[in-house]
Amino acid sequence: MNEAAVGRVRDFILQRQGEMIALAQQLIATPTPNPPGLERAAAEIAAEALRQLGLQAIEIHEPTDQRANLVCTYDTGLDGPTLLLNGHLDTKPPDPLSDWESDPYVGEIREGKLYGLGAADMKGPDAALVYGLAAALHCLGDRICGKVLLALTADEEAGALHGPRYLVQDLGLRADACLIAEPCGITQNWEMLPLISRGVTCFHFQIQGTQTHSSISDRIPVVNANLAASQLLVFLQERLQLNYPANELCPVGPTVNLGTQFRGGAGLAKIAGEATISSDIRTLPGMTQEQMSADIERALAEFRAIYPEAAVSWHYEDGPVAWTPPTAIAADHPLVLATARAAAAILTEAPPLGYFPGGTDAIWWQGYADIPTIPAFGPGRLPNCHRPNEYVAIEALVEAAQIYALLIADYLAR
Ligand SMILES: [Zn+2]
Repeated sequence: MNEAAVGRVRDFILQRQGEMIALAQQLIATPTPNPPGLERAAAEIAAEALRQLGLQAIEIHEPTDQRANLVCTYDTGLDGPTLLLNGHLDTKPPDPLSDWESDPYVGEIREGKLYGLGAADMKGPDAALVYGLAAALHCLGDRICGKVLLALTADEEAGALHGPRYLVQDLGLRADACLIAEPCGITQNWEMLPLISRGVTCFHFQIQGTQTHSSISDRIPVVNANLAASQLLVFLQERLQLNYPANELCPVGPTVNLGTQFRGGAGLAKIAGEATISSDIRTLPGMTQEQMSADIERALAEFRAIYPEAAVSWHYEDGPVAWTPPTAIAADHPLVLATARAAAAILTEAPPLGYFPGGTDAIWWQGYADIPTIPAFGPGRLPNCHRPNEYVAIEALVEAAQIYALLIADYLAR
């Protein structure tokens, strides 16, 4: 991208920086904690901002009352690929409210940072997408072919049933490539350009013991399910070996969390007859549910040989988190190259390629609809999200809008 084009985008965004932050504040002031989400009012605000910026083709799709997805189409009328840009309109709930230093539903600016629920995840990035798209239209429209779809969607924080799942499964929305503007920083903004979004699998171990009067545990043989479960937890922590292909973008491998929840026993004066250990594993590309099941079975067989008195079984959680697959986009995909060049033009150098630690709506765009997807490239840092006093640096929002405009023009270059 030549200097003049970058300069036009920079001027466009800097002149409208105040408006863009005001849009982020308006979105923050329109509560969408999920559940229940109820994204309709937020979608209307974003739609109005897009109209004011000269974008015309705006639709709001509502699979059920008030669960709204905005889809704005910028069609150049020239043959070319379709680029999907995605943000979500819902947030986590603000709990615990008492830990907020300012009202979570007021976008307060302090020391160059915008505070509020969803500031980083991701009403701030949503505003940056809106202004980035407008900058592409007004500053670089004469160089672009194909189409941009901007989808500001519902229900990311609680399973996407009313969001991308609905758009890809029921409406058949498709594109050639997708970028999600979720925050990609951990210790700093723009820390990496993630190509991988890890999958998740959740499962439970059940340990059967002998529920009986606790006074006779030394007179008859009993199995204390809580004690056996504790032994199982320690055993699995040391002995569960997962088989998976190494991945150089994610050298730490899968993240194993055994005992995310531990329940057992029926109370005082009773030997615990039942215990459950819940667990989750964040998976990498190349891992399969069959292999995961075999690895768990093998560890359990060893445990049963050592503690035959404890009856242990296990099962996956119901629903999508039983096995939500990981996703990956190729390092040489044209959208990855365009994004790296756009980031380098604004940030002086492109962030290193990496992996996104959690899951995103890439699961639906790529996992279901086969759209190669960058799972998270947006302003903000993950540790600031899903917690009180969420914030995003205003400078990072301004950078984001410019990067989005440039990557649109690069990927859709005539
Ligand atoms: Zn998010």
